[in-house]
Amino acid sequence: MNRFVIALAASAALLSASLAPVHAEVDVATLKKAIAASIESSYPQLDALYKEIHAHPELAFQEVKTAARLAAEMRALGFEVTENVGKTGLVAIYRNGDGPTIMVRTELDALPMEEKTGLDYASRDKTNWGGREVFVAHSCGHDIHMASWVGTAKTLLGLKDQWRGTLMFIAQPAEEIVAGARAMIVQGLFTRFPKPDAAFALHAGPFSHGTIFYRSGVGSSAADGLEITFHGRGGHGSAPHTTVDPVGIAARFIVEVQSVISREKDPNEFGVVSIGAIHGGTAPNIIPDSVQLSGTIRTFKPEVRAKLHAGIERTAKAAAAMSGAPAPDITMAEGTKSVVNDPDVVTAAADVLKAAFGDKFRVSPPGTASEDFSEYAGAGVPSMMFNIGVYDQERIDAARNGGPPIPSNHSPLFAPVPKPTIETGITAMTLAVLSAFDRRKGK
Ligand SMILES: [Zn+2]
Ligand SMILES: [Zn+2]
Repeated sequence: MNRFVIALAASAALLSASLAPVHAEVDVATLKKAIAASIESSYPQLDALYKEIHAHPELAFQEVKTAARLAAEMRALGFEVTENVGKTGLVAIYRNGDGPTIMVRTELDALPMEEKTGLDYASRDKTNWGGREVFVAHSCGHDIHMASWVGTAKTLLGLKDQWRGTLMFIAQPAEEIVAGARAMIVQGLFTRFPKPDAAFALHAGPFSHGTIFYRSGVGSSAADGLEITFHGRGGHGSAPHTTVDPVGIAARFIVEVQSVISREKDPNEFGVVSIGAIHGGTAPNIIPDSVQLSGTIRTFKPEVRAKLHAGIERTAKAAAAMSGAPAPDITMAEGTKSVVNDPDVVTAAADVLKAAFGDKFRVSPPGTASEDFSEYAGAGVPSMMFNIGVYDQERIDAARNGGPPIPSNHSPLFAPVPKPTIETGITAMTLAVLSAFDRRKGK
């Protein structure tokens, strides 16, 4: 029961002599101990790497220093590294005999926001973003992913007598604007390099460290961008009858569009429309000519997506028509599709991860966030993404009992506890990769 059977060759640095007969069957507990020993010896460097990246984050497609740092780490481990794949992305390959190719992805990018954690390694960096100077912060945990990615590579090399095949570690830019995965694929990710037999990624989340959430099938939402310009006729604020007021039209639309969600969509189906930005006007006494809105549309199913698109368009046109305004300009741009976790890859990994993490390895409902990790499955690579927690259990319990709320990803207060989080990331990812090598063996 719960035995992860692999052909284990001696790996003296990691396994005590008594545990390391060549080609013995080893249970997951033993393997987990070997992984823990590897992490223990490399953690000081990983902690320094994490804190350096955390303190000096870079935005989408600007991740030049971050990518260079990771490239150096991987070269030092013996990986063959190709830089500038998808602008700032990199691909690190390690060949270890005949066998499948298994891909592990980390993201490189941070967010245009000010960190307010007060940590001594908090970011104070600023950069230029769309013509404005902005703070930059790793408030989504991509720095945790990078440290776990390097740590997993190190650990798998330490265990390289136990797998045969090729490791393909990729560092992807621009996840936050869901553009980096596509950029890497367009620039030859699966043609210049081997096309993987399986791909994995992990994401940090606001729950207790040591806990892992996963699911088979749809794991995240599809995201579409929404841009609308309502046209009116500008004039004096004291004489609205001489104008067509686009601020009023936009306000009507913002309220009414939620009835597409509440009255048109099946309440059992997931669908969200959020308007995140509204721009119009310059002064209190001027009715402007136009107002721009931008928002996001999130769904799990194509038929729900089509229904929302139709309802949004109809509502926007009707809101304008009610005021006698010209038809609005409406763009709904396809952002990214749902992450779909491959049942076979998930089943093989889940066997091992359940044995390693027990009831802390749990099935979760699909997340409402979106992820361009979906692009790799879309390109035909069976894949699996799972989530790891970042906070002390006491903090979660305190929040449940009315204490300070838990900061989620993208909060300026998002602050993972590095060591246990990175340890879990490395342990889970190493086991997942080994499960994929094992699954493909002999196929
Ligand atoms: Zn994010
Ligand atoms: Zn993220």
